[in-house]
Amino acid sequence: MPVPRSTPPEAASRGAGRYAPSPSGDLHLGNIRTGVLAHLCARSTGRPFRWRVEDLDRVQEGAAERQRADLESLGVRIDPPVLVQSARTDRFAAHISALAAAGLTYECYCPRREIQAAPSAPHTPPGAYPGTCRDLDPSTREAARARLRENGREPAIRLRTEHEEVEVADDLLGPVRGVVDDFVLRRGDGVVAYNLAVVVDDGESGIDQVVRADDLASSAPRQAHLAGLLGFAVPRYVHVPLVLSPTGARLAKRDGAVTLRELTALGFDVWAWLGESCGFGPWDGMERALAEFDLARLDRRPVTFTPPEA
Ligand code: GLU
Repeated sequence: MPVPRSTPPEAASRGAGRYAPSPSGDLHLGNIRTGVLAHLCARSTGRPFRWRVEDLDRVQEGAAERQRADLESLGVRIDPPVLVQSARTDRFAAHISALAAAGLTYECYCPRREIQAAPSAPHTPPGAYPGTCRDLDPSTREAARARLRENGREPAIRLRTEHEEVEVADDLLGPVRGVVDDFVLRRGDGVVAYNLAVVVDDGESGIDQVVRADDLASSAPRQAHLAGLLGFAVPRYVHVPLVLSPTGARLAKRDGAVTLRELTALGFDVWAWLGESCGFGPWDGMERALAEFDLARLDRRPVTFTPPEA
C-alpha cells in the first residue's frame, strides 16, 4: 500500500491553492475570512488560486454565484478551471470502481443511527465505524441488499482500511495525526461522500495547498490516506481558526448581521476586521493584505465575532 507523502513546501510552482465552499447560502464573515486567507496563502506562495463548488448536497439556488461575487468584490482573483462537483459524478464513480477492483471497498447496510450507537472496535477512534458489515457472507449481503431495496435505498460503500495511523503536515497546526477508519465513500442515497469528492477533485486539479477552517482538520488524515491509495500527492494543509459567535458555537447566519451585504449596509469595515483578526492590524483592501500577509505571522488564536447591532 503506498505511503502518503506530503508535498514539500518548495513545490509551490507545480500546484495550486483553492477555496471550496458549499453553496448552501451566502458566505458569512467566517467563510469570507477563510476564503480570503486561502487566496492570500496561494498568492503569497506563487500558486494559482482555484474555486470549487461543493454542490453534492445542501444547495441553495444562486448561492454559488453570490459566494463567488462576494469574494471577487473583495479582490479575490480566481484562476480557471472552476470545478463543479455535481458535474463530476463519473470521475468519482471511476475512482470508487478502481478501489473496488483493488478489494479496498465493501458494501454497508447499517442505518446511520445504528452506526452512531455501536461500540467502537479496539484501536479505532471514537465514533469510528465498528466494522459491522466488513466481513459478511454473500447470502447475508444479498438479504440486506434486498431489505434496503424495498425502502428505495442502496448500500453505502466503505473503504476497507487497516486502521492506519496517518500524519499530515499542517503549516499552522503542525503535524495532525489520526487513525483512519472504514469511512464512507458513497452514501446510502447514492451521493458520493465528502471525503472521496474532495480527494478526487483536489488530486485531479493539481491542488497542493488546502486552506480551510480547522473544524475539518480531523478529516485530513483520512483524506491523505485516500489520496495515497488513489495515487495523488498529499497536499500541504493550512487549517485556519474557525470563526465563532459570542456563545462559542460556530458563527452562523442566525447570529445576526454576518454576510458581506448585511455588514456593509451597517457600515461595518470588513477589511479592517479581517486584518485585525489575522493579527496584522487593520487592512483596507486586498492590495495591502497581499503586501503584508505572511503565514508565519498569522494569529493562531480562536476568533470570535460579535455581529454589530442593526
Ligand atoms: N465545503 C466545505 C465547507 O464549506 C469545505 C471543504 C474543504 O475545503 O475541503 O466547509
